[in-house]
Amino acid sequence: MTERLWSIYNETKRQTEDLTPVISTNSVNPDTIFANNEMSLRDIEIYGFDYDYTLAFYSSHLHTLIFNIARDILISNHRYPEGLRKYEYIPNFAVRGLHYDVQKALLMKIDAFHYIQLGTVYRGLHPNMSDFYGKSSHGHTMKQFMDIFSLPEMTLLSCVNDFFMRHNIDYEPVHLYKDVKEAIRDVHVKGIMYRAVEADIEKYICYGEQSHAVLKKLSEHGKKMFLITNSPFDFVDRGMSYIVGKDWRDLFDVVIVQADKPSFFNDRRKPFRRVTDKGALLWDRIHRLEKGQIYKQGNLYEFLRLTGWRGSKVLYFGDHIYSDLADLTLKHGWRTGAIIPELRKEIKIMNTEQYVHMMTWLQALTGLIEQMQVHRDSASQAVVEEWIRERETKDIFNAQFGSLFRTYHNPTYFSRRLSRFADIYMASISCLLNYDLQHTFFPRRTPLQHESPFWPEQSHVSLSASSQPHRTKAESD
Ligand SMILES: [Mg+2]
Repeated sequence: MTERLWSIYNETKRQTEDLTPVISTNSVNPDTIFANNEMSLRDIEIYGFDYDYTLAFYSSHLHTLIFNIARDILISNHRYPEGLRKYEYIPNFAVRGLHYDVQKALLMKIDAFHYIQLGTVYRGLHPNMSDFYGKSSHGHTMKQFMDIFSLPEMTLLSCVNDFFMRHNIDYEPVHLYKDVKEAIRDVHVKGIMYRAVEADIEKYICYGEQSHAVLKKLSEHGKKMFLITNSPFDFVDRGMSYIVGKDWRDLFDVVIVQADKPSFFNDRRKPFRRVTDKGALLWDRIHRLEKGQIYKQGNLYEFLRLTGWRGSKVLYFGDHIYSDLADLTLKHGWRTGAIIPELRKEIKIMNTEQYVHMMTWLQALTGLIEQMQVHRDSASQAVVEEWIRERETKDIFNAQFGSLFRTYHNPTYFSRRLSRFADIYMASISCLLNYDLQHTFFPRRTPLQHESPFWPEQSHVSLSASSQPHRTKAESD
């Protein structure tokens, strides 16, 4: 019996290999705008933007900078061991959207059903093999890292954990988490990062993302535009002057800085306050949001009252799925666009022949397992077990945590949130240049589980007819 199983396995594998070049020609353009929900640009009159990682894109130097400053704050202000200074930022260690168990100091990737992806539980810089860690936290504090700025934070946490474990130092993970968080916050709040970026803007801001062309296009089509950012005016002004030009404010009807999102969307109490070009705060009550002025803080309820920009004629872009987009979708009815810079790199990998082959084979293998599990003798079961282990191969997106969007077999927690809170998503705002402003985005109709009940590639295979030709997943798609 096991011989038969292996011969079906080999035959399926051979057919998968034959098909790979055919499927590979069908690649995805990384500049596509993807729709979770049908939306027409024809209906959009007002475009809103977040600033960091939405209009301004940063080079990897910024993460190194944040890591280094926060590491040094831990040593000088929190009296952490001098030996930590040996740790450098590791650019591709973490991915966005990971969860962290604060009590156990474990970093991990969680899927849409709150299960942890096997092999992605890390303590320090290495996988944590000893702990079996089933379905998420058992009364522990779980923190999810959703911000692109949190990549250096996760890496620093992992490095400090690594240092303490390596030196057998007895430490409290909860304190470590809080100290790292505070050190990272200080890098922002105390203005260290802002000053460093302003001093060497060409090193930190990537100019190539064409934000300027997008804003110009919208303005030429008579669209209203506004900016709501948590960053301070000086920093935004310096960056926007670099990206768009000194007259960038002419393009925007309303500019709000230090907005304190997500509380901006929820807290009705905070009034808007006018800031002068020199950064001085004025005390007058705000009755209008005027073009050419800069406002600080405020709240969305007041914003809606003063502008009248309500409902589905407003589209807001941001990179933070929770603090930029969630409340807008759930409570305020604006349309939302998520900027996911990681998409570009993942799509490029998805377009490789190696990836196409891996996925086609994974689908075929899964079908094989589903069908052949009925052979309950121990020899056959051992073969099936071996196939199941093969399904969990290492990921080609990121060596530690894999893709931002998927665990081995499910969407990630991040993916699920993304599809709930964003009408459309794209790698960068420049993708808008590929569409005219009448374009309607349609989500593709993907089958629900009951609409596609079988693994089609194995539907004709049986032990008695193992050589019969069978279709692959890709063909049936
Ligand atoms: Mg942002």
